[in-house]
Amino acid sequence: MDFSDRASIICRAIRRAILEQALSPGDKLPEDTLGERFGVSRTIARHALGQLASEGLVELRRNRIALVATPSFEEARDEFDIRRELERLVVRALCGRLSASQIEELTAHVAGEEAARGGSEANSIRLATEFHVKLAEMTGKPTLTRYVREIAYRSSLSLATFGRPHSPDCAISEHRAVIEAVAAGDAERAAALMAEHLDQVAARAFLKARPSRGDLMEVLAPYADAERPGLGARAGRETEKTAQPQSRRPKHA
Ligand SMILES: [Zn+2]
Repeated sequence: MDFSDRASIICRAIRRAILEQALSPGDKLPEDTLGERFGVSRTIARHALGQLASEGLVELRRNRIALVATPSFEEARDEFDIRRELERLVVRALCGRLSASQIEELTAHVAGEEAARGGSEANSIRLATEFHVKLAEMTGKPTLTRYVREIAYRSSLSLATFGRPHSPDCAISEHRAVIEAVAAGDAERAAALMAEHLDQVAARAFLKARPSRGDLMEVLAPYADAERPGLGARAGRETEKTAQPQSRRPKHA
């Protein structure tokens, strides 16, 4: 087993731990701990972290500190937009081209998702994401598959950051509808269903997400508005007295 094989094993393990939310955004990933845990040198661990950073799953800071990445709200929204378009390409590419055994494999996968319901949440999340990656793999298009896989894993970080706890991720009925449309060879319908499905996933996740906290003026606006009557009573008594009758006048006219 060579250097890059060993690094790939670490990458695969960390991707899976992120997907199952065993690792959360912001968790530290020290090289020495990884090296020890996987029985590899720090150099190999560092190489793996570099690879994961290039996929957007890990954030590298100064002094060789590596953390599980924390997507910003804007990044999460952007990524769902990109993911929707990529996966529309996937189902269009698959329409009318899936073999009976591939359709069977997808149906069996969704049956597995159904069976996992009520079990561990980690397992459900992983199966749901694997459905999307499996679809991409069936296109036989390596670039499309790589992009879908990367963005699907990044989505799981977004869901971990902004999703409500215990919110359903992918609805099984929506996965079934996509398979049916693809099997029927209806490209437009399949693309529309996939787009709708991913919009639903994003909506369920981001329903209660906080908006950007970047703009202090915006954050303070509702608080300032709530305080305005108090402020006005002190600061603008004179102008209010003269302004009020004027503002009422048109209503009576
Ligand atoms: Zn899904």
